[in-house]
Amino acid sequence: MNNFTFYSPTYFAFGKGTEKEAGRLIKRFGGSKVLIHYGGGSVIRSGLLDRVKESLNKENIEYIELGGVKPNPRSGLVYEGIDLCRKEGIDFILAVGGGSVIDSAKAIAAGAMYEGDFWDFFEGKPIEKALPVGTVLTIAAAGSEGSGDTVITKEEGMLKRGAGSEVLRPKFSILNPELTQTLPAYQTACGAVDIMAHVFERYFTNTKEVEITDRLCEAILLTMIKEVPRVIKDPNNYEARANIMWAGMVAHNNLVGVGREQDWASHGIEHELSALYDVAHGAGLAVVFPAWMTYVMKHDINRFAQIAVRVWGCHMNFANPEETAREGIERFKQFLKSIGMPTTFKELGAREEDIPLMVEKLGLGENGTIGSFVRLNSKDVENIYRLAL
Ligand code: NAP
Ligand code: FE
Repeated sequence: MNNFTFYSPTYFAFGKGTEKEAGRLIKRFGGSKVLIHYGGGSVIRSGLLDRVKESLNKENIEYIELGGVKPNPRSGLVYEGIDLCRKEGIDFILAVGGGSVIDSAKAIAAGAMYEGDFWDFFEGKPIEKALPVGTVLTIAAAGSEGSGDTVITKEEGMLKRGAGSEVLRPKFSILNPELTQTLPAYQTACGAVDIMAHVFERYFTNTKEVEITDRLCEAILLTMIKEVPRVIKDPNNYEARANIMWAGMVAHNNLVGVGREQDWASHGIEHELSALYDVAHGAGLAVVFPAWMTYVMKHDINRFAQIAVRVWGCHMNFANPEETAREGIERFKQFLKSIGMPTTFKELGAREEDIPLMVEKLGLGENGTIGSFVRLNSKDVENIYRLAL
């Protein structure tokens, strides 16, 4: 196991009716003038936004609203939010929605405390200060409610990039699994794939002797394999929704990733798909991940055989572990299909002729690489896209 630090200071309020706590928690974390940030309207239709506002009214907290965050959130609205925060003297941002809304809120929070262009952070400038952010989560997926990361798409060139900092970790996150019951099955499944992908990015590592985090990763994956089909069948299954919602948080606040090298190539490879076609991140991951696994499997066949046995229930073929590894990937693919996810470019609506453009936009150039389990160059990335056709 490698040395590590772990800092996860977010306060979580989990369970039925917890959105009523929003006002009290904002006060507790020092907010007095709030920007409520939300998406395309699901929180208006469900009545959640009204309940949240009521909770702020009860505590006499002033607020203004900025809606309109799109899935794969854009830089344009971030600039608008930054201007609004400065003009109105905002001291706290409350994100009510999914990963896209939370990420947009985090980018505004960092940008509002910075004199230059907030996009600098997405080109590598460290984020040192940000307004405090709280969240009321409506979809189990990105894990942004417990992470210090944000992913934004710059309209100019449709560049999708991430930035991260400890100061971006939400002060509090309200997780009421009931709020996810209005999600269409497709969005629920996309979220589930993202959660599983956050585990895979950590599981496939070259660091040895990391049994504790291996086992925690496996527990999350086993939970998802059990619970996701249950909510697809019955969207109102509260207990299954609750298990998935907490799985989404622990999959990405880095509890299961400390002390080991992490990969993250598949997320980078996927971001080019969701940037170009504006598809859901989880759907893109369902296409990329099986292809990535097939491509890199031989690098550590025992690790792939291990996950096949422990997570996908395959029998270990000691004479031919590669067969076990392949069977595990195949079972993962069948699982994706069973929850209505695409596994090919064609099903996603992606085009073979765009592969060179996506490889170019990824920006590895002649000598650059992505990933750490296996360092992939531009040619490897192209091969992975082609495997996913
Ligand atoms: P999302 O993009 O926030 O939301 C997806 C869709 O679901 C939206 O159309 C939204 O509608 C709808 N929706 C959300 N909650 C709903 C509900 N309860 N009922 C009905 N509809 C609902 O989804 P996400 O998967 O959480 O976020 C995806 C983004 O996060 C991607 O850009 C991805 O790259 C990023 N990401 C971030 C991190 C991180 O650590 N920061 C990690 C992984 C991925 P409305 O707009 O109308 O609300
Ligand atoms: Fe993700």
